[in-house]
Parts: sequence; C-alpha cells; structure tokens
Amino acid sequence: MANDVWVYIEHKDGEFSPMSFELLGIGKGLADGLGSNVCAFVIGENIENITKEAFAYGASKVYTVEGSVFKGFRADAYAKASSFLLDKHKPEIALFRATSQGTDVSAASAANLGFGLCTDCIGLNVDGGQIKMTRAAFGGNYTITVVNEKAKPQIVTVRPKAFAMPEKDASKQGEIVKEAFSISEDDLNTKVLEFIKSEVTVNLVEADIIVSGGRGVGSDEGFKVLKELADILGGAVGASRAAVDSEWIPYEHQVGQTGKTVKPKIYIACGISGAIQHLAGMRTSDCIVAINKDPDAPIFKNATFGIVGDYKQLVPKIIEKFKTKLNR
Ligand SMILES: Cc1cc2nc3c(=O)[nH]c(=O)nc-3n(C[C@H](O)[C@H](O)[C@H](O)COP(=O)(O)OP(=O)(O)OC[C@H]3O[C@@H](n4cnc5c(N)ncnc54)[C@H](O)[C@@H]3O)c2cc1C
Repeated sequence: MANDVWVYIEHKDGEFSPMSFELLGIGKGLADGLGSNVCAFVIGENIENITKEAFAYGASKVYTVEGSVFKGFRADAYAKASSFLLDKHKPEIALFRATSQGTDVSAASAANLGFGLCTDCIGLNVDGGQIKMTRAAFGGNYTITVVNEKAKPQIVTVRPKAFAMPEKDASKQGEIVKEAFSISEDDLNTKVLEFIKSEVTVNLVEADIIVSGGRGVGSDEGFKVLKELADILGGAVGASRAAVDSEWIPYEHQVGQTGKTVKPKIYIACGISGAIQHLAGMRTSDCIVAINKDPDAPIFKNATFGIVGDYKQLVPKIIEKFKTKLNR
C-alpha cells in the first residue's frame, strides 16, 4: 500500500540483536493510525533468518535486496539500495534507528532522494492523518513537533529505546518481496579493506544499568571503582565529557549531547554536576541515582534518588551491599 510504514532492519553481516527490530512496534502503531501496513526492509547477503525474525516482530511484508556486494556494511552501497527501494515503493515513512548505521543509511538516502531528514525522534504519532514527529531541541531543554508536508517517503531516525519493544511471535509469517537491485564495485567509492575490532567493547545504548562518572571521580583509578560496581550489576560504565576530556576514560563511554544518548533502567551518576549537555543524553533513564557531595548540584533536580556524599566512601559500601545481596 502506498501509505505503508517501513522499518529499516540493521545488522552486521547477518548478525542482529532483538533491538534491530524495536521500531516495528512504533511502526505498527503508525500503520494502524494510517490504516496501512508495517513493512521491514533488509539489505545484505544471506539475510533469510533476518526476514523470519522481522515477521515474528510484526512486519507484514519484508522487502529485500541481496547480493555479495552487500557483504560487510558500506554506507554508500546500502544507501543506494535503500534509495532504490524507497523511490520505487514510496512508503509514507521510513524509520531508521538513530545508531551509527541507521544514521549513515538514512542521511545518504535522504540526500540521494533530495528529501529532508528528521533525526533522533523521541515521539511519533498520527494525528488527523498526518504523522507528527517529536524530537529534542536546544540541548534537550525543549521538545519540538515536526510535520513533513512535502516529502514522501518521510525519512526519520528514532532514538534507540524511545519506544517499547514489540512482542515476538515466532508463528507469524508474511510476504517476502525480493527486489533485483545490483551495483558493481565500480559504482562504489569505498572498499572495506579490513575490520579492526575496537578494544573498547562498550554498548551503552543497549545497557540496562549504567554507572557513570564525572569530574568528581577525580582519576582513572576512580573509574576502576565504578567499573567494579558496574560489573557486579551487569552494567556498563558511562562518563561525562569532563571525565573523557581528562583522559580518565575513552570517548566511547561519553554520555550526552556530543556523546551517546542512553535510556537504561538505572543510571547511577557519580560526581556529575548535571549540565544540560549531559542531561540531554540520559535524562529519560527510567531511574536516576545521583551521588554528589554538593547538595545543590543540579543533577539532584533530575534524580529519582539523590545521595549527598563522597563517592569514594559511598561506592565501596554500595559494592559490598550488592555483593552480599547478589551472592557475588
Ligand atoms: C557544545 C557542548 C557539548 C557538550 N557535550 C557534552 C556531553 O556530551 N556530555 C557531557 O557530559 N558534557 C558535555 N558538555 C560539557 C558540559 O557542559 C559540562 O561541562 C560537563 O558535563 C561537566 O561534567 P561533570 O559534571 O563531570 O563536571 P563538573 O560540572 O565539574 O561537576 C563535577 C561534580 O562532581 C562533584 N564532586 C566532586 N568531587 C566529588 C566526590 N568525591 N564525590 C561526589 N561528587 C563529587 C561536584 O560537586 C560537581 O557537582 C558539552 C559542552 C558543550 C559546550
């Protein structure tokens, strides 16, 4: 149907996580509002198992472009295939996750098609037949709602974890539409020579618990204590820009306007004052626990629980408590 809602399914060489399918939930909500269908589109090599999962998470149709040229992610190859699909089928809207892959493919597709792109949405709904997109502005101090009256498809990136995961039903099936689209190496500007796995393996965006440190942590030694707490809780370590700039922890851990946007179940902020640029990346966490020795620190205004004190004394005590409670 011409006003279908499409969801781009990201993967790395056929490897995916359940989070790859998270937008099918909000996609279905939009499709219901428009009286249309939610469809997935997948680009890659050997993607059969991904299409099955897409049906299980609610797609009624899956459009695919397959070929050896799509082995290994390359933004220009994937964006050419994505632009081809979007131009041919002209769905009402195409949703991408606001991850590095989703941002790459959506931005290049929008540029190829000559359309705008609404980035990092945190709200999407249908009102009077129109899709309204809500996103943060001015460092997270305001939210704005955008309506795109001209472009079709509307191209949107959605902040990871901004919407509930759809339920999986492995018995669901649907229609696969295999599209023939080929490009040669000569059509592409990039070649993947080698993949070098980052030594920093931190997945802040998908972590359920984050223990984060700021300038108040004082040193890289201080971050070892936070890491111990994060490990006991099965969480990840985050940081403010001040801690990253001090070289106590690599940039991959930075949370905030110029770092990662996270929405864990629990965010424990140690020695972080709560500047708006930091809050922009974590204020929608389900539960924020702030540890700060200044009772007037702005972070307390956003915290679910606030503990006034020195993290050097408090965090080791919290670690001991959890060790006892969790038998570690
Ligand atoms: C364009 C732009 C983009 C930015 N992007 C980001 C971003 O992505 N992420 C980000 O974080 N910042 C960002 N910033 C920087 C931001 O404005 C703040 O400077 C930064 O967040 C401050 O980090 P902080 O809270 O760790 O340090 P501070 O503001 O210095 O706060 C340190 C806190 O630690 C407390 N403290 C000190 N010792 C202890 C102790 N022993 N125990 C407990 N508490 C203690 C203090 O009371 C204080 O509240 C950006 C700034 C700009 C201009």
